[in-house]
Amino acid sequence: MTLISYLTNITFDHGAVKTLGAEMEALGMKRPLIVTDKGLVAAGLIDTVRGVIPNDKAATIFDGTPANPTEAAAKQALAAYREAGCDGIVAVGGGSSMDLAKAVMLMVEHPGALDDYAMIKGGVPKITANMPPLIAIPTTAGTGSEVGRGAVIVMDSGVKTALVSPHLIPKRAICDPDLTLDLPAGLTAATGMDALTHCIETYISPKVNPPAEAIALDGVARAVKHLERAVKDGHDREARWNMMMASMEGAMAFQKGLGAVHSMSHPLGALPEPRLHHGTLNAVIMPTVLRFNHDFVGDKYDTLRRIMGLSSNADLPQAIADMNARLKLPENLRAMGVTEAMIPVAAEQAEHDHCTPTNPRPVDRAGFEALFAEAMG
Ligand SMILES: [Zn+2]
Repeated sequence: MTLISYLTNITFDHGAVKTLGAEMEALGMKRPLIVTDKGLVAAGLIDTVRGVIPNDKAATIFDGTPANPTEAAAKQALAAYREAGCDGIVAVGGGSSMDLAKAVMLMVEHPGALDDYAMIKGGVPKITANMPPLIAIPTTAGTGSEVGRGAVIVMDSGVKTALVSPHLIPKRAICDPDLTLDLPAGLTAATGMDALTHCIETYISPKVNPPAEAIALDGVARAVKHLERAVKDGHDREARWNMMMASMEGAMAFQKGLGAVHSMSHPLGALPEPRLHHGTLNAVIMPTVLRFNHDFVGDKYDTLRRIMGLSSNADLPQAIADMNARLKLPENLRAMGVTEAMIPVAAEQAEHDHCTPTNPRPVDRAGFEALFAEAMG
């Protein structure tokens, strides 16, 4: 059975952040909790957002979002929400702030341990619509969490796991590419490769969802054409617009399911040390997984080659590796500080990751160990 579902209201363009006041009004939000991180406060982006909030709204700022969002940080933000008597949430930031905001939004009216609502524990039907409204304003172009139904959280147990529900989709997404103009080159590259991974993995996932595939392919085309431009010149507004669109499209499409790249990057991204960026992990792991999936995707690599402007006999995994090199991303997992000792636990977690069932080629724990070993370089 095919399940196709779209989605939420999105305002998208240069300067879209100015619609925040009207969107808050439409949702009846008077006392928002702004969930963000200290970097965005220091960069002045929160001042930009506060500047467009009408004076009659009392905004409280929670800037304690960690690089990888945790259950502990969600509890702190929830305490701030309750103390200030908030009636809605505005997430401003990358995937971490948006995912943390989704967890807080869930916890306001859903009692008990957050872990009980995790997808792998059968939590999806326990998540109801009973939650305050969330407006998401992305400041990176990669995760697409502003239109996604998932939140990936490092639970108190140390396991990185996903909360998934259509009720977790933000009520409004405000996509303003101008908020990404000052994103540093390294972060632009890493987050952009996350968007490209979403589009490619969801396109090759075996589930039936042609609209999602069409959106994913449009995202691939935009990312391949504009990511290197955005990295080279952060103030290339056309490149930034297209990367934000590719990011949003990746997340609109990945209701079709991701695959083994994400299964492998989730456990490594949950490590307390070294702290590894999700997008960089995906970029580095993708060539290995594309090679592994080669005989299980029908003619989809032909389509990808065409969309990416490659010759019909080009080596697709190598083209991604070459793109990583041009973007100055690490060559392999070893260069990121991953060691052989980390592989067994990572392989075990990857086997149970929610993205594993939608990888085109079935993969078990031993298979993941082999994939990790290959991605080590
Ligand atoms: Zn991702």
